[in-house]
Amino acid sequence: MKFQLGVLLLIASAFNVSAQSDRWQQRAKYEMEIDFDAANHQYKGTQKLVYTNNSPDTLHKVFYHLYLNAFQPGSQMDVRSRSISDPDPRVKDRISKLSPTEIGYEKVLSLKQNGKALKYQVVGTILEVTLNEKILPKTQHTFEMQFEAQVPVQIRRTGRNNSEGIDYSMAQWYPKMCEYDYEGWHSNPYIGREFYGIWGDFDVKITIDASYVVAGTGYLQNPDKIGHGYSTKTVTHKPGERLTWHFVAPEVHDFMWAADPDYKHDVVKVDDNLDLHFFYQTDTLAHVWKEMEPLAVRSFKIMNERFGRYPYKQYSIIQGGDGGMEYPMATLITGRLNLNSLVSVAVHESIHSWFQMILGTNEAKYPWMDEGFTTYAQNIVMAELFNTKGDAQRTTTNSYRGLVKSGLEEPLTTHADHYNTNRAYSIASYSKGSVFLNQLAYIVGKDKFERGMKRYFNEWKFKHPNPTDLKRIMEKESGLELDWYWEDFVGTTKTIDFSIREVSPNGSKTNVVLERIGQMPMPLDVVVTYKDGSQENFYIPLEIMRGEKEEKMYAQTTLMADWGWTYPKYTFSIDRNLAEIVRIVIDPSQRMADMDIDNNFYPTIISEVPSFKAARAQ
Ligand SMILES: [Zn+2]
Repeated sequence: MKFQLGVLLLIASAFNVSAQSDRWQQRAKYEMEIDFDAANHQYKGTQKLVYTNNSPDTLHKVFYHLYLNAFQPGSQMDVRSRSISDPDPRVKDRISKLSPTEIGYEKVLSLKQNGKALKYQVVGTILEVTLNEKILPKTQHTFEMQFEAQVPVQIRRTGRNNSEGIDYSMAQWYPKMCEYDYEGWHSNPYIGREFYGIWGDFDVKITIDASYVVAGTGYLQNPDKIGHGYSTKTVTHKPGERLTWHFVAPEVHDFMWAADPDYKHDVVKVDDNLDLHFFYQTDTLAHVWKEMEPLAVRSFKIMNERFGRYPYKQYSIIQGGDGGMEYPMATLITGRLNLNSLVSVAVHESIHSWFQMILGTNEAKYPWMDEGFTTYAQNIVMAELFNTKGDAQRTTTNSYRGLVKSGLEEPLTTHADHYNTNRAYSIASYSKGSVFLNQLAYIVGKDKFERGMKRYFNEWKFKHPNPTDLKRIMEKESGLELDWYWEDFVGTTKTIDFSIREVSPNGSKTNVVLERIGQMPMPLDVVVTYKDGSQENFYIPLEIMRGEKEEKMYAQTTLMADWGWTYPKYTFSIDRNLAEIVRIVIDPSQRMADMDIDNNFYPTIISEVPSFKAARAQ
């Protein structure tokens, strides 16, 4: 499909949404031509990069990522993978065993700034470039590079001949300018995970043997020359012929592609403005991909409705890589899975379009804001697609509890590559990040939360929001102060545990004593069920919120006095005789990640509270 002007206009309008969320963005315009030699798994490339410095700063250096250099014995990725206590089984010591024809590399052959040759130095996976001409604020400079590269044996995300027989998963494959933002340069070496990039426009021409079907980021510009399911025209290619695939991708921060001679290519419409493309091998499990297609369409519809409109006209779900990995306008996923797993990974990776490709937080610094938020939305979408009952977030909350109990937890502020264990990284990022949102909905109320998430997307798309940007949106939506929540739940490993300490008769009334056992304060919903079946929520705001949530979750809500966070106990009185009280429960919605739910109810007979019984059984 040809790239259309409408997309540019749609995206351009995103920059004018709110004066409050102005933040300058560097700009990159890439033009690349790639000559791919499949016989040797190597390619030669030329890259013209027009770089616009929109910062108020003068730049004296620039940095490029050379990700493929990680796949060499002795690289930082190799050594980290062999020395961490719980190595990723996909990597382990595999890099240390790669031969010269199996490693990955990106070799820069020449680099010019505005036509003049530059000095540069390769330091592992980073190219350090000293400029001839400093880059003044609001100026544009052109970098021209020639490079050659070798596709490594598939180890992680990228590579050749993956376990499912996909020839090329081409992620992290070109010299990519590092991002410079209001916090400075982010020239992180490639250790294991998480990416951050400059939004820009990509124009990529890939010349490869005509037997290959190429899929990836961007709109194909010459479908009638290519065929292969991109055009209704039948195009025949002679043996030995080479084809040049021309892709254009506007307003993206990366470009991925994949190639295989056996790809089947289906196109399914979500609506008039969005096509989903599917690329998969025609093997015995191809029918599962067919079954996935309508579910993927529904997933996009749910996400558009609940979190904001996906702004591109195309998204591709491509078999490749190892597991699943998100890229702009496309994902690489392994394909030989049962329907539930295949849909789950496709849904997860495509939701990254919202929480990474469009919002683009610095995911090395804040992996919980992309993996966690994606997991939160994935739980909602999967429950809807498969019509599952019960608490969609429960497994995720229990996974966070498991990490806390393991003693391995590190704060969410930890850099993605710097967690001491892979387990602490993955559960903090995916599960605690998801719990963060679920619990935020509890704190500010469901409606305000949902409006806040849409506002966050609309105001911050294409602007690299940070945690405080989300906090300010939620504060404005809810009218509450939320510093304490970000400080404790993101910045520390403090945990939540409240208990019903005592329930006692006091004449015609009943006294309730609550206790904060965990170090982290929280507002509480304390829901009382009476003999007549009616329910009353005694809502206790936290004093430092300077306000209270508005939520119509329970038939009757009684606003109580604030709880000052240093007080370990809180006493209140119910205007009913103890004999009329059947049950008292702290947060029956279980959106609050209380570490010990056994002490959250009165009387202490857990079988009477089915949702708690189910939670404890896990
Ligand atoms: Zn993810």
